[in-house]
Amino acid sequence: MSLLPFVAQPQGQIEAELAAAGCRPFVARQLLHNVYGLGLASFDAMTDLPKRLRELLAARYALRTLHETDRREAADGSFKLVLALDDGNLIECAYLASSAARGTVCVSTQVGCAMGCLFCASGKKGLVRNLHPHEMVEQVLLVCDRLGDRERLSNVTFMGIGEPLANFDALAAALERLNDGAAGMGIGARRITVSTCGLVPGIRRLADLGRQFHLAVSLHAPTDELRARIVGRAARTPIAEILAAARYYFEKTTRKVTFEYVLVGGLNDSPDCARRLVALLGEFPSMVNLIPLNPVAACADLHAPDAAAVRRFLDVLQKGGIEACVRRRKGAELDAACGQLRIRAMDRRDAGE
Ligand code: SAH
Repeated sequence: MSLLPFVAQPQGQIEAELAAAGCRPFVARQLLHNVYGLGLASFDAMTDLPKRLRELLAARYALRTLHETDRREAADGSFKLVLALDDGNLIECAYLASSAARGTVCVSTQVGCAMGCLFCASGKKGLVRNLHPHEMVEQVLLVCDRLGDRERLSNVTFMGIGEPLANFDALAAALERLNDGAAGMGIGARRITVSTCGLVPGIRRLADLGRQFHLAVSLHAPTDELRARIVGRAARTPIAEILAAARYYFEKTTRKVTFEYVLVGGLNDSPDCARRLVALLGEFPSMVNLIPLNPVAACADLHAPDAAAVRRFLDVLQKGGIEACVRRRKGAELDAACGQLRIRAMDRRDAGE
């Protein structure tokens, strides 16, 4: 019989299993602290637990089900992992260093993506399947394994492959495990960002969790017409509805919403677009994150605007009273735009290499 994933198993179930095995309640707490707090990757290493229990757990559960098949490293300490899932599917996960001491883990939520945004490599081969909660949490644990020092993990963003809110229940379970201080990794909700292309029911459900997770909405255009050319399926929802959901999110959580805006040369980078964006967001409690396009092989006809155009766009926003910044292009040398490494690995596999 193959082993069950241990990570992200409901706490109640683990407690019940340990109680049935004759363990006192504190043993479950110890076990969960070993798994999430200390990040131990084998039961055998948990020498504070009785040997019989370690053997029992190891016979039933695996602590890691994802396996690294490729790794890219950048000079600044950032790295990107291609990970094989139990069923052979591939995903990516990245660690983006903001300094030598701190950095952000970027987590995938699906194998592929159904949304089909113009410039995004993740959607180029469609959606294969949703990730399970353990496959999301294990990405963070694996990065910690590689870092060797948990303190270097400062933030988690759900900005890898996939649309997190299209896989809501698994996302919510993973968030719980990352955030829970006693039976999880204890990462503060304010240090966890969920990025969505604008799925309104999901935004409302995330708000209703009543936690302070940071919400980022990939807007990319100030009008429905232009947005329809950029974000594929997600453009079926009018911007006005997305903004209403974002307002609901703010009211429920008191957290400012970030709007992501990927700048594509000649498409959505004009001063007129910037002025419309100012008019759209107005007094809305938000921040705009401008992201110059990362080149993607599958869309070679698209290019990033030059620095002057980016500066001009930013100026219009800031003079219009919008809090905005340009995201530093971390990880370009890692092929870090969502899904690019996975596609390369799949192509290599298809070519029989
Ligand atoms: N599906 C979610 C999260 C994954 S993508 C979403 O759409 O928000 C995370 C961010 O990276 C999104 O804002 C997405 O539009 C952006 N992105 C995707 N491909 C990119 C590229 N080639 N260059 C720059 N940003 C890109």
